Amino acid sequence: METVRVLIIDDEKVIREGVARALADRGFVIAKAESGERGIEMIEEQGFDIVLLDLMMPGIDGFGVLEWIGKNSPRTEVIVITGFATVSKAVTAMKQGAFDFVGKPFTPDYIRIVVDRAVDKIRLEAEAERLREERILSMEAIQNEQSLLKTVFGCMVEAVLITNPSSVVVHHNPAAIKILEIQTDPVVGKPLAASIKNDGVVQMVGEAISKKMVVSREFVPGNISRRYLRAHCSPVISGGGTVLGSVTTFEDVSTQKQIDRMKSDFVAMVAHELKSPLASIEQMIYALQINCKFEEANACNKLHNRMTVRTRDLLRLIENLLNLSKLESGTVVFNLEPTSGHEIIRDIVEVTKPQAEGKNITINFNPCPEEWSFNVDYDHIRTAIMNIVSNAVKYTPEGGTLDVSTSLSGGFANMVFKDSGIGIGTDDLKHIFDRFYRVKGKATRHITGSGLGLSLVKEVVEAHQGYIDVQSVPDQGTTFTLSFPVVEVKTPA
Ligand code: ATP
Ligand code: MG
Repeated sequence: METVRVLIIDDEKVIREGVARALADRGFVIAKAESGERGIEMIEEQGFDIVLLDLMMPGIDGFGVLEWIGKNSPRTEVIVITGFATVSKAVTAMKQGAFDFVGKPFTPDYIRIVVDRAVDKIRLEAEAERLREERILSMEAIQNEQSLLKTVFGCMVEAVLITNPSSVVVHHNPAAIKILEIQTDPVVGKPLAASIKNDGVVQMVGEAISKKMVVSREFVPGNISRRYLRAHCSPVISGGGTVLGSVTTFEDVSTQKQIDRMKSDFVAMVAHELKSPLASIEQMIYALQINCKFEEANACNKLHNRMTVRTRDLLRLIENLLNLSKLESGTVVFNLEPTSGHEIIRDIVEVTKPQAEGKNITINFNPCPEEWSFNVDYDHIRTAIMNIVSNAVKYTPEGGTLDVSTSLSGGFANMVFKDSGIGIGTDDLKHIFDRFYRVKGKATRHITGSGLGLSLVKEVVEAHQGYIDVQSVPDQGTTFTLSFPVVEVKTPA
């Protein structure tokens, strides 16, 4: 509180001086007025917290001043100064709003006690006022926050379901009823299972609460509603670690899924449509090559060879596109059969040799002594290994080598493809399994490709519970290792 301002109104100078002296050590601002009129004037001009007021004065007396203060300066506390004979008047004055009275003659101590009490009262009132204002402000803040939350909650497109730790619904937003196609009414206060007839949701909420972690699920149409829903359930955990309940959001991803499907269907369709005409073109080139007249054969052959290579590239791209889109859509049915690892590699090495010899690249195959087999889809695995081997030949300059070897360790068979090619820099290495990623540089400028090969290899390897690893040093070579669980090992006699 600021400095207390005190005004003494009394027509007797001794009293004015006496009161002022008594209060001198209190640190107040003290002013004096010798009449009621002057007192009113000063209050009007300067404002006072406490007025010590003589009742008996010529002109406007104490009662007149008191009445004026009551009307014009209600916060000012009035202490009446009165002669002994007029105590009853002092009482009347208090009834009219004076805070206290001091009888004449008075001791300085008594004046101080009464004035101190008035100061306390003023301070308490100021404090009470401050608290009242604070409360009003915080109530407003709470109300604003509540209405803000309510608005956000109500306008959300996603469904929100809030439960207590026993999976009883305690709150939900309007979107929940729409998206989850809930028929029961009311939902609040009932177990989740009463409104949503799907074990998956109940399990998800139970899991989030018991394991204290976020659980995410997708629900296909027909599971909960006619929509494709993606849900995330988070446990609500108190500062002390107790689970207070759960908040689950459901997002309608039907359109997204539909677009994905359309995209995959489109790619599959285009790839399929391209495949058959290209295959016949390849056949026709071959026929042309054979029919070419002997003397023209040299010139023709070069052209024919180039046509064959480009056509094969295209056919491989289409094969990869088709396989990838199938793998992505989850429609691939793997035909798993125990397959000999060494046989599949030998076959690919044989097939690739002519292409490698064209670049004077030597392919060495060093199988481990044990014969082993793994449970795989032959066509998919063959395409994957083929991609690795043809990359090695493609990205290794004339005269290089490709060493293929195998080993067994910890229930896995490792196929190692080590080439002496152009290598891959660290920054590119992070991305080579990304779809359509190709290293751009001097060494790769004239090598054609689509950047799909390795992403397909990774999908296939992982679909067979295998791993793929790559190590590379620019200008020295690259080593790809594919590891698969083995099902049978035959140790040489
Ligand atoms: P595609 O296989 O679809 O015809 P691509 O060979 O360019 O095209 P990926 O097989 O996915 O695509 O390989 C991605 C990139 O990784 C290649 O463009 C190449 O830059 C690099 N790369 C792959 N294998 C090797 C390797 N053995 N040596 C050096 N770089 C390689
Ligand atoms: Mg490739």
